[in-house]
Amino acid sequence: MGEMVLDKQFFADSLAKMAELTEENRDYWTKLDSDIGDGDHGINLSIGFRAVNANLQDNLEKAADVTALLKKSGMLLLSKVGGASGPLYGSFFIKMGKDDAGKEAVSFPEFAGMLKNGVAAVQQRGKAEIGDKTMIDALQPGIEYLEAHKNDDDPVAVMEETVSIMKQGAESTIPLIAKKGRAMRLGERAVGHKDPGSESSWMLMNVFLEEMKK
Ligand code: ADP
Ligand code: MG
Repeated sequence: MGEMVLDKQFFADSLAKMAELTEENRDYWTKLDSDIGDGDHGINLSIGFRAVNANLQDNLEKAADVTALLKKSGMLLLSKVGGASGPLYGSFFIKMGKDDAGKEAVSFPEFAGMLKNGVAAVQQRGKAEIGDKTMIDALQPGIEYLEAHKNDDDPVAVMEETVSIMKQGAESTIPLIAKKGRAMRLGERAVGHKDPGSESSWMLMNVFLEEMKK
Protein backbone atom coordinates (compact mmCIF):
# COMPACT_ATOMS: atom_id res chain seq x y z
CA MET A 1 0.00 0.00 0.00
CA GLY A 2 1.36 3.43 -0.96
CA GLU A 3 1.64 6.04 1.73
CA MET A 4 -1.65 7.76 2.43
CA VAL A 5 -1.75 11.50 1.76
CA LEU A 6 -4.66 13.52 3.09
CA ASP A 7 -4.89 16.78 1.20
CA LYS A 8 -7.02 19.90 1.40
CA GLN A 9 -9.66 18.29 -0.81
CA PHE A 10 -9.93 15.36 1.63
CA PHE A 11 -10.68 17.76 4.47
CA ALA A 12 -13.06 19.86 2.38
CA ASP A 13 -14.94 16.73 1.25
CA SER A 14 -15.05 15.43 4.83
CA LEU A 15 -16.49 18.70 6.14
CA ALA A 16 -19.11 18.75 3.37
CA LYS A 17 -20.08 15.15 4.23
CA MET A 18 -20.28 16.07 7.91
CA ALA A 19 -22.73 18.81 6.97
CA GLU A 20 -24.81 16.24 5.03
CA LEU A 21 -24.65 13.73 7.90
CA THR A 22 -25.80 16.44 10.29
CA GLU A 23 -28.89 17.19 8.20
CA GLU A 24 -29.70 13.47 8.01
CA ASN A 25 -29.34 13.04 11.78
CA ARG A 26 -30.68 16.37 12.94
CA ASP A 27 -33.91 14.90 14.32
CA TYR A 28 -32.23 11.80 15.75
CA TRP A 29 -29.60 13.79 17.69
CA THR A 30 -32.27 16.22 18.84
CA LYS A 31 -34.41 13.31 20.07
CA LEU A 32 -31.48 11.96 22.11
CA ASP A 33 -31.03 15.43 23.61
CA SER A 34 -34.73 15.76 24.39
CA ASP A 35 -34.43 12.60 26.54
CA ILE A 36 -31.70 13.99 28.83
CA GLY A 37 -31.10 17.61 27.79
CA ASP A 38 -32.99 20.47 26.20
CA GLY A 39 -33.69 18.91 22.82
CA ASP A 40 -31.49 21.03 20.59
CA HIS A 41 -28.30 19.04 19.85
CA GLY A 42 -29.21 18.21 16.24
CA ILE A 43 -30.51 21.73 15.68
CA ASN A 44 -27.30 23.23 17.11
CA LEU A 45 -25.05 21.14 14.89
CA SER A 46 -27.24 21.79 11.88
CA ILE A 47 -26.89 25.56 12.35
CA GLY A 48 -23.12 25.17 12.74
CA PHE A 49 -22.48 22.82 9.83
CA ARG A 50 -24.72 24.81 7.48
CA ALA A 51 -22.36 27.74 8.10
CA VAL A 52 -19.33 25.46 7.60
CA ASN A 53 -20.77 24.16 4.34
CA ALA A 54 -21.60 27.63 3.04
CA ASN A 55 -18.02 28.69 3.76
CA LEU A 56 -16.72 25.63 1.86
CA GLN A 57 -18.77 26.58 -1.19
CA ASP A 58 -17.55 30.18 -1.07
CA ASN A 59 -13.97 29.89 0.07
CA LEU A 60 -12.39 26.59 -0.91
CA GLU A 61 -10.06 28.15 -3.44
CA LYS A 62 -9.06 30.89 -1.03
CA ALA A 63 -8.37 28.61 1.94
CA ALA A 64 -4.63 28.39 1.54
CA ASP A 65 -4.04 25.12 3.36
CA VAL A 66 -5.50 22.32 5.45
CA THR A 67 -5.06 24.29 8.67
CA ALA A 68 -6.82 27.41 7.39
CA LEU A 69 -9.80 25.32 6.29
CA LEU A 70 -10.13 23.53 9.64
CA LYS A 71 -9.57 26.71 11.65
CA LYS A 72 -12.18 28.67 9.73
CA SER A 73 -14.68 25.81 10.09
CA GLY A 74 -13.99 25.60 13.82
CA MET A 75 -14.43 29.36 14.21
CA LEU A 76 -17.81 29.12 12.49
CA LEU A 77 -18.97 26.28 14.78
CA LEU A 78 -17.77 28.23 17.79
CA SER A 79 -19.46 31.48 16.79
CA LYS A 80 -22.73 30.21 15.27
CA VAL A 81 -23.75 27.51 17.75
CA GLY A 82 -25.36 28.55 21.00
CA GLY A 83 -25.14 25.28 22.93
CA ALA A 84 -22.24 23.64 24.78
CA SER A 85 -21.43 21.59 21.70
CA GLY A 86 -20.55 24.65 19.54
CA PRO A 87 -17.50 25.74 21.53
CA LEU A 88 -16.48 22.08 22.05
CA TYR A 89 -16.66 21.07 18.37
CA GLY A 90 -15.33 24.52 17.44
CA SER A 91 -12.20 24.02 19.58
CA PHE A 92 -11.87 20.51 18.18
CA PHE A 93 -11.52 21.73 14.58
CA ILE A 94 -9.49 24.84 15.44
CA LYS A 95 -6.96 22.80 17.43
CA MET A 96 -6.79 20.03 14.83
CA GLY A 97 -4.69 22.47 12.79
CA LYS A 98 -2.45 23.82 15.50
CA ASP A 99 0.82 21.97 14.75
CA ASP A 100 0.52 21.75 10.99
CA ALA A 101 0.14 25.36 9.91
CA GLY A 102 0.65 25.95 6.22
CA LYS A 103 0.46 22.31 5.07
CA GLU A 104 -1.18 21.45 1.75
CA ALA A 105 -1.47 17.79 2.80
CA VAL A 106 -0.73 15.55 5.79
CA SER A 107 0.27 11.92 6.30
CA PHE A 108 -1.89 9.50 8.30
CA PRO A 109 0.32 9.71 11.43
CA GLU A 110 0.12 13.52 11.18
CA PHE A 111 -3.66 13.28 10.80
CA ALA A 112 -3.78 11.07 13.91
CA GLY A 113 -1.82 13.73 15.79
CA MET A 114 -4.26 16.40 14.62
CA LEU A 115 -7.24 14.40 15.90
CA LYS A 116 -5.42 13.93 19.20
CA ASN A 117 -4.95 17.72 19.49
CA GLY A 118 -8.64 18.18 18.71
CA VAL A 119 -9.77 15.80 21.45
CA ALA A 120 -7.30 17.35 23.90
CA ALA A 121 -8.93 20.73 23.19
CA VAL A 122 -12.42 19.32 23.93
CA GLN A 123 -11.08 17.87 27.17
CA GLN A 124 -9.38 21.14 28.19
CA ARG A 125 -12.42 23.24 27.39
CA GLY A 126 -15.09 20.99 28.92
CA LYS A 127 -13.02 19.38 31.69
CA ALA A 128 -14.90 16.10 31.28
CA GLU A 129 -13.28 12.76 32.13
CA ILE A 130 -14.19 9.31 30.86
CA GLY A 131 -17.37 8.19 32.65
CA ASP A 132 -18.90 11.69 32.90
CA LYS A 133 -21.44 10.82 30.14
CA THR A 134 -20.20 13.25 27.46
CA MET A 135 -18.63 13.11 24.02
CA ILE A 136 -15.30 12.47 25.77
CA ASP A 137 -16.54 8.91 26.51
CA ALA A 138 -16.58 8.30 22.75
CA LEU A 139 -13.61 10.37 21.63
CA GLN A 140 -10.96 9.67 24.27
CA PRO A 141 -10.73 5.83 24.10
CA GLY A 142 -10.68 5.94 20.30
CA ILE A 143 -7.94 8.54 20.23
CA GLU A 144 -5.80 6.50 22.64
CA TYR A 145 -6.02 3.51 20.29
CA LEU A 146 -5.25 5.73 17.28
CA GLU A 147 -2.20 7.24 18.95
CA ALA A 148 -0.84 3.76 19.72
CA HIS A 149 -1.46 2.47 16.17
CA LYS A 150 -0.92 5.52 13.94
CA ASN A 151 2.24 4.05 12.38
CA ASP A 152 0.72 0.63 11.60
CA ASP A 153 0.75 -0.55 7.96
CA ASP A 154 -2.94 -0.20 7.17
CA PRO A 155 -4.34 3.28 8.04
CA VAL A 156 -7.89 2.39 6.97
CA ALA A 157 -7.93 -0.62 9.31
CA VAL A 158 -6.58 1.54 12.14
CA MET A 159 -9.21 4.22 11.52
CA GLU A 160 -11.90 1.54 11.33
CA GLU A 161 -10.96 0.24 14.77
CA THR A 162 -10.68 3.81 16.11
CA VAL A 163 -14.23 4.61 15.02
CA SER A 164 -15.51 1.27 16.29
CA ILE A 165 -14.03 2.02 19.74
CA MET A 166 -15.64 5.48 19.65
CA LYS A 167 -19.01 3.91 18.82
CA GLN A 168 -18.65 1.53 21.76
CA GLY A 169 -17.74 4.56 23.87
CA ALA A 170 -21.05 6.17 22.93
CA GLU A 171 -22.89 2.95 23.91
CA SER A 172 -21.02 2.98 27.22
CA THR A 173 -22.74 6.26 28.19
CA ILE A 174 -26.19 4.60 28.40
CA PRO A 175 -26.00 3.29 31.99
CA LEU A 176 -24.16 6.35 33.32
CA ILE A 177 -25.21 9.28 35.52
CA ALA A 178 -23.96 12.55 33.95
CA LYS A 179 -21.25 14.53 35.73
CA LYS A 180 -21.02 17.32 33.12
CA GLY A 181 -23.44 19.25 30.91
CA ARG A 182 -27.20 19.68 31.22
CA ALA A 183 -27.91 16.00 31.86
CA MET A 184 -26.20 16.41 35.25
CA ARG A 185 -29.36 17.92 36.67
CA LEU A 186 -31.29 14.72 35.95
CA GLY A 187 -29.23 12.54 38.29
CA GLU A 188 -30.49 8.94 38.14
CA ARG A 189 -33.05 9.86 35.48
CA ALA A 190 -30.27 10.09 32.88
CA VAL A 191 -29.59 6.36 33.33
CA GLY A 192 -30.77 4.33 30.34
CA HIS A 193 -30.23 7.12 27.78
CA LYS A 194 -27.33 7.59 25.39
CA ASP A 195 -25.46 10.90 25.57
CA PRO A 196 -26.27 12.86 22.38
CA GLY A 197 -22.78 14.36 21.95
CA SER A 198 -21.13 10.94 22.24
CA GLU A 199 -23.37 9.71 19.41
CA SER A 200 -22.80 12.72 17.12
CA SER A 201 -19.05 12.64 17.75
CA TRP A 202 -18.40 9.03 16.70
CA MET A 203 -20.69 9.50 13.69
CA LEU A 204 -18.79 12.64 12.63
CA MET A 205 -15.42 10.87 13.04
CA ASN A 206 -16.79 8.04 10.89
CA VAL A 207 -17.00 10.54 8.02
CA PHE A 208 -13.20 10.82 8.01
CA LEU A 209 -13.03 7.01 7.76
CA GLU A 210 -15.51 6.91 4.86
CA GLU A 211 -13.53 9.58 3.00
CA MET A 212 -10.26 7.70 3.60
CA LYS A 213 -11.78 4.65 1.87
CA LYS A 214 -12.42 6.62 -1.33
P1 ADP B 1 -26.43 22.16 25.31
O1 ADP B 1 -26.12 21.10 26.31
O2 ADP B 1 -25.86 23.49 25.68
O3 ADP B 1 -27.88 22.20 24.95
P2 ADP B 1 -25.91 20.54 22.96
O4 ADP B 1 -27.24 19.95 23.25
O5 ADP B 1 -25.67 20.98 21.57
O6 ADP B 1 -25.62 21.74 23.96
O7 ADP B 1 -24.77 19.48 23.31
C1 ADP B 1 -24.88 18.61 24.40
C2 ADP B 1 -23.69 17.66 24.39
O8 ADP B 1 -22.50 18.37 24.66
C3 ADP B 1 -23.76 16.58 25.43
O9 ADP B 1 -24.48 15.47 24.96
C4 ADP B 1 -22.31 16.25 25.73
O10 ADP B 1 -21.83 15.18 24.91
C5 ADP B 1 -21.60 17.52 25.34
N1 ADP B 1 -21.07 18.18 26.52
C6 ADP B 1 -21.73 19.00 27.36
N2 ADP B 1 -20.90 19.46 28.33
C7 ADP B 1 -19.68 18.90 28.07
C8 ADP B 1 -18.39 18.97 28.70
N3 ADP B 1 -18.18 19.73 29.78
N4 ADP B 1 -17.37 18.26 28.15
C9 ADP B 1 -17.57 17.51 27.03
N5 ADP B 1 -18.76 17.40 26.41
C10 ADP B 1 -19.80 18.08 26.92
MG1 MG C 1 -28.91 20.61 24.19
